[in-house]
This record gives sequence, C-alpha cells and structure tokens, in this order.
Amino acid sequence: MKLLKFGGTSLANAEKFLCVADIIEKNIKNAKIAVVLSAPAKITNYLVETIETIIQHHQKLEDINLSENIFFELVQNIKKMQPNFCNKSINELIKKEFDKLRKMMHGIILLKQCPDNIRAILISRGEILSVFIMKNILEARKHQVTVINPVKNLISIGHYLDSTVNIPKSKKLISQINLNNTDVILMAGFIAGNEKKELVVLGRNGSDYSAAILAACLNASCCEIWTDVDGVFTCDPREVSNSYLLESLSYEEAMELSYFGAKVLHPRTIEPISQFKIPCIIKNTNNLNSLGTLICEKNNLTKNFLKGVTHLDNIAMFVISGLAMKNMLNINARIFTAISQKNINIIIITQSSSENTINFCILENCIDQVKSALTEEFRLELKENILNPIHIISKLSILSIVGSNIFLKPNIASKIFYTLGSANINVIAIAQGSSKHSISLVLNKKNILNAVKIIHDTMFSNKKIITVFLIGIGGVGKTLIKQIFEQKHFLYKKNIDIKICLIANSKKMIMSKNGINLSIWENDFKKSKEEFNLDKLISLTKKHHFLNPAIVDCTSDQLLSEQYITFFKNGFHIITSNKKANTNTFQYYQKIQKTVSKTNKKFFYETNVGAGLPIISTLKNLLNTGDSITCCKGILSGSLSFIFGKLEKGVTFSQSIKEAQELGFTEPNPLDDLSGIDVARKILIIAREMGYHKELKDIEITPLLPEHFYKYKDKNKFLSKIQELDLYFLEQTKKAKKLGKVLRFVGKIDNKGKCQVKIEKISIHDPLYKVKNGENVLAFYTKYYHPLPLVLKGYGAGNNVTASGIFSNLLHTLS
Ligand code: ADP
Ligand code: ASP
Ligand code: MG
Repeated sequence: MKLLKFGGTSLANAEKFLCVADIIEKNIKNAKIAVVLSAPAKITNYLVETIETIIQHHQKLEDINLSENIFFELVQNIKKMQPNFCNKSINELIKKEFDKLRKMMHGIILLKQCPDNIRAILISRGEILSVFIMKNILEARKHQVTVINPVKNLISIGHYLDSTVNIPKSKKLISQINLNNTDVILMAGFIAGNEKKELVVLGRNGSDYSAAILAACLNASCCEIWTDVDGVFTCDPREVSNSYLLESLSYEEAMELSYFGAKVLHPRTIEPISQFKIPCIIKNTNNLNSLGTLICEKNNLTKNFLKGVTHLDNIAMFVISGLAMKNMLNINARIFTAISQKNINIIIITQSSSENTINFCILENCIDQVKSALTEEFRLELKENILNPIHIISKLSILSIVGSNIFLKPNIASKIFYTLGSANINVIAIAQGSSKHSISLVLNKKNILNAVKIIHDTMFSNKKIITVFLIGIGGVGKTLIKQIFEQKHFLYKKNIDIKICLIANSKKMIMSKNGINLSIWENDFKKSKEEFNLDKLISLTKKHHFLNPAIVDCTSDQLLSEQYITFFKNGFHIITSNKKANTNTFQYYQKIQKTVSKTNKKFFYETNVGAGLPIISTLKNLLNTGDSITCCKGILSGSLSFIFGKLEKGVTFSQSIKEAQELGFTEPNPLDDLSGIDVARKILIIAREMGYHKELKDIEITPLLPEHFYKYKDKNKFLSKIQELDLYFLEQTKKAKKLGKVLRFVGKIDNKGKCQVKIEKISIHDPLYKVKNGENVLAFYTKYYHPLPLVLKGYGAGNNVTASGIFSNLLHTLS
C-alpha cells in the first residue's frame, strides 16, 4: 500500500485535478493506492475570511458565492477535458453543501459569533468536495474507488479546530473497512471526528498530518506528499531565490524545520511516519521528473549538516519579571500550567541571564487569552507587586536554523550573531534549545525576511559578502568599479561575494539591492533620474539590511566626510581616499576613532597617503607590535616627485611642470600641488597616526614658490609667469649637485613630533635620493629599523594604484 497526498496547490484548477488523476492512475498499476486530498488552493482561506466578514459586518453572505463559483467553474472545465465525467451529480452536491453553509452562516449572523464546532464544518467543505470531484474523475476512468469518511474513522481528541488523532483506535476502525475490490482509497484531508462523532479539523495545513495518519493506519510502505515545489528546500524558495533542494532529511530534522515554519510540511506529519518508520517523499506535481526530498530515519545522503533556515511570524513575547521571583516556588510550573489549560502552545522559552525574568513566545492571536490566564493565576502577586506588570512585546518573528546536532557544533552561534550584527539586525532573545537540532532567535518581524536571506547566504553558501555603496565616480571611483567587475569571478571562487549596490555622484545615483550590473552601469547611470542624498542612502540600508555594508568615499568632499560618524552609527564600514575627515580638527578626528571602536566598524583610509602603498597599515603594525617611530620622512606627492626628478636632468622648472601636467600627474591647477598643502595633509595624517595631537596649522610649510605666485588663481596666468623661476631652480639644482646632492620636496616628522614640508638637498645615501618619475617614498626610522630605515616606495598616485588600495581595504573588512 502506498499513500499519496495532494495539497491545495496541486488541485488549484481543472488541469491540475486531471494531472493528479494521471499520477494516481500511474501508481495504480504498481500498487494499492490510498489518496488524501486537500481543498483546492485558497478555498479554505476564502471560507475563513467569509466567516470573519460575516461576524464583523453581520451580513455579507454573498462572499460565500465566490467559493461556490470556483467549484462550479472547476467542474465545468473538468467536463470539457473529461467528457464522461458526471458533472450533474457533482453540481447538485456543490449546491447542497453550499446551501448548508448558507444556513449555518445565517446562524452566525444571529449569534454574532461562530462556535468552533460550526467553524470546523464550514472550513472543511473544500476537502469534502475535492474528494467527491476526484472520485468522479477516477470512476469516469473506470477505477473502483472507496471513500473513507474521516469523521467516522479517524478518532481524535482535543479542540474542534486543532485535534490530535488516536492512531491505534483509528487503525482498528479502518482495518474493518472492506477494501478488497478497491483500486483507490480516497479520504478528505484536514478532517477527523471526535468521540461524539462530530467533525473536527486538524489545524491549518493539516492534510499532511491526515496523510501520515492514514499511511500509519494502512501500514503503507511509503507516504508521498505532492505539492508545488520540488521538495524541502534550505529556505522557502518563494522567499530566498538561491535556496536549494535537500535530497534527504531525518525525521527529526524535518520535524524541526516544519515546527519552526517550513510550510511545505505540517509539523505533526512527522510523528506518525517516524513512529511507524514510514519513509516520506515530498514531490512536485509541476515537475514530475524531480526526485523530491526523502524523509526517513537516517539521513546519510546529505553531506552538509545544516538543513534549513525557517521563520515563524506573528509572534508575541511575554516577559514575566519581579525581583522576588527567584524565591517564588513553582513559578515556571504555574505559568505553563495556566497557559496549557487554555490549550495554547508555547512556541519557545527564551533565554534570560537572571532568575528574575522568564520570557516565552506564543502566537500573537493568543495574547489576550494568555494575558488573562496569567493575570488570574498571579492576581495576588501582581497586586502585592511581587511580580512586575506583565510585559508583552508583539510584532516579532522567530528565526530558526536547523541542522543535525547543531547545538554541538562550535562556532555556529557566533557566526549567526556576527552575521546579524554586521547587517545591523538586533536579536531580541535567544531560544533555549527545544532540541539539539535547531537554534532559534527572536527578532523584530520587520527584519525577518532580510535576516533569513542573510543567514542563508552566509551559513549555506559559505560566502563572505561585502556590500559596497560607492560615492564619487571620478577617475578613482570608475577604476574601482572596473577592478571589482574584473575580479568578481576570481573572488567568488574564493567564497567572497562583492557587490556594489549603490553608485552615486553628488547629484544622482543608481541602486540595486541585489547588486548593480557592472557591465552596463555607466549606461544605467546616464539614464538615472534618481536624486542622491544621504538620508535616502541610510533609509535604504535600514530597509534592506545589507550584509557587511561599506561606504566607499572616492570624493574629496568636506560635507560627506563630516557624515562619517552618522554612517558608522548606521552600521557602515567606511573606506575612503578622501583626506578631509582625517585632516579635519583633531577633535573630529578623535570622535571618529572613538565611534569606530564603539560601533565595532572598520575605518580604512590607506589611500589617504601614498595611494596604494601600505603606509598606514605598516605604521599601525609597527606601533601595535611595540616598535617606536623615531622619525619619518618621505616624498608624498606624485607630481612633485616627477618635477624634482626632471630638474636634476637639466629640464627647466616651467618645462617639467608642463610635462607633469601633460602626463596627468598634477591637479587641474598645478598651483595646488606646488602649494605643499596636499603633502602637509598627508604628514598630518601620519603624525596623528603616530599619536601626535596636531592640527593642519601645526604643519610647517616652507613655500616652494615666492609668495606672490600663490595669488595667481588662474591656471594660465600662473603658467605664463612660472618661467620667471626657471633660473632660480636651475641655480638651486646646480648648487645641490656640487655637493653631490639633489633637490626633493620632502615631508617629515622629527623625533619631537615637529612636522615640516619643504625643499631639501638630499645626499646619495638617503632613501629619498633616487625617487623620481612620480614615485612616492616614506622612510620610517624606528627602534627596530635602525640605522637603516624601513622604506616603502612605489607609485603614490594614479587611478589604478589608488583604486587597488581601496579594493584591498574593502577585502580587509572581512577580516
Ligand atoms: P500544499 O497546498 O501542497 O500543502 P503549501 O502551500 O502548504 O502546499 O506548501 C508548499 C509551500 O511551502 C511552497 O510553495 C513553499 O513556498 C513553502 N515552503 C516554505 N518553506 C519551505 C521549504 N523549506 N521548502 C520548500 N517549500 C517551502
Ligand atoms: N485546506 C486546509 C488548509 O488550507 C488543510 C490543508 O490544505 O492542508 O489549512
Ligand atoms: Mg500544505
């Protein structure tokens, strides 16, 4: 005997009914078959809603016509495809059943409420009609069909709307039915009978449970649950697109997944099939070739011990607290007895560090009942203030991660918390292990879908994710996008998934929560009309909870740099080539550093000094490992490195500026480089990193040019005058050469912290001597690097090296 169960999704229309009949017929050839059917999709929901509208509005009986018409249309369409199908008798039955429902609904209008015994009858009509329709299709195809009446044969106890079947008693009754000349046994799911032979239902989604019960009662060798997905996935495939099918699951794992919200299977389904060791397969009526998911005793097939991420919504948490609570005897027992007497299920009990608080979660629609049960039970204690007023937090969800023996695996919980923390999602409570196969967390409902996706992405794909929000798309920003695009595949293979979700300049932006397509971003950006502002960016991230979000500032914007603190507080890391934040007042600099450590976010600004050269990280490493910096000096301007390199080859000062300009080494106005302010900013950043409390005004700049040159704000005017200095620089270069030296524009910090930026004559043994052609250098003289300094040398400007420095910083956010 084999049992097949078809859910509402498999009976949604005439084609699907006939497809189910085909599947049943195929199986008849090989074995005796029992079939459990749900109501056609949505019917139960419509019936429930109709009852609610009738209670609320007292008269709205026409809503019931909607459900009735669905059946009439269904039957009409089946008749078109299965001409010998006996539609008349079915139409009569549909009418009879719905007339009965209308009468009951009149009663509800009078009573202004719907008693549970009546509600059970009303909401289970869909199942009854599904069975009748299928019986007629199979009989039209010349099969012998026996219908088992669940009200008479499935003996249950409990509530009218959520009963539990007594399998031994039901088995005995079913064994008395004569099934000798039967090809197919049909039974309506969801329905059972109580000891008084009244109709009861088995809880929403309960047809899966009916199937497992009938499988147990008939000693079936297998129970197939047919639905609209290929089997059990690691997450609900409708919510998480990259979830994947599980080949197999143990009974315990399946139990845990369904208990914590995997709708594909009703939680109570597992109990009968595991008790009678019946293998269960979840299969897809829309994809007959899929192998499905096998649920059986031992799950040896799947290598990954993690099985799924699920969520239960509409949860409320009760907080029972009071300073004297630890002295109260039996408090837990009293709480849980009071609640269980109301037939209310406590979903989880959450952890609390003190003995003065007990937290537990229930479904939100039970809040009033639980509150009144507890108020009654603890009337005295509440009156005497031994207990604090009962506190209820609603609009919550429970997220569960299921895996075999997950509780015994080290690092899992920390990974979960780290992941949610990095997406700025707050965990309200942790559930005490209801079993060793799951970890559950209580979160705000508004965050749950994002949390499920993020946990799935990190725990199941092992991918480390960085979400980039790029502001500034000049040369460096654009190059960074290109580098990320070219390297994405390589990194993906190394389990790093880097996606750019926002690209913005000062005016507009493009944004995609799943990552912008970097092959066509420029086109999309041109077309975009979406204005960019920082509030928008923050509210977007609050909505989507990106994992590991990092703002990349490739601008030189002062205002943006003044928003960094807000960014850190909103959960972003910041990677910046913009020097404005670190060269703002010392007070602001300190505030940033404090916020970084408080928020536990990453702040990387390697490209503030020497572009991609690892100057800042080397300096931090030296200091962290106990070295002390005596002094340091360097050439920290690409353009000035080039210009002074040219001078020593005999090129005139004006000509070398021109060449530097042509090669793109200088700022748009070369005067900005020649002012020395840029080098001064870099020296300030290094000095602060070394621990000196400096302001920009503390950096002594000896001007490179006579003072009156700096008033030429116009580039061309300045360039026309610059020849006047050729002779002066020629003579200076000659003088230096006579001493065996060269001229260099140097920034330095001496052993007392004095910071200077000026032209110096450099001798041949100095590490700065050979630096030209746009190269940068920084020499650290330290306790350990003495007398020879630690020297970092290489290109210190340019789009490629700067972008790659930022890229490297981005990857470091994962460490
Ligand atoms: P049926 O009508 O066949 O009983 P249900 O709608 O009750 O179907 O259950 C199937 C649905 O369960 C799927 O469409 C899917 O969206 C949802 N679901 C939730 N969690 C999971 C999961 N982990 N794996 C597969 N499906 C899931
Ligand atoms: N039709 C019922 C429901 O929607 C039972 C089921 O489909 O499993 O809850
Ligand atoms: Mg279902």
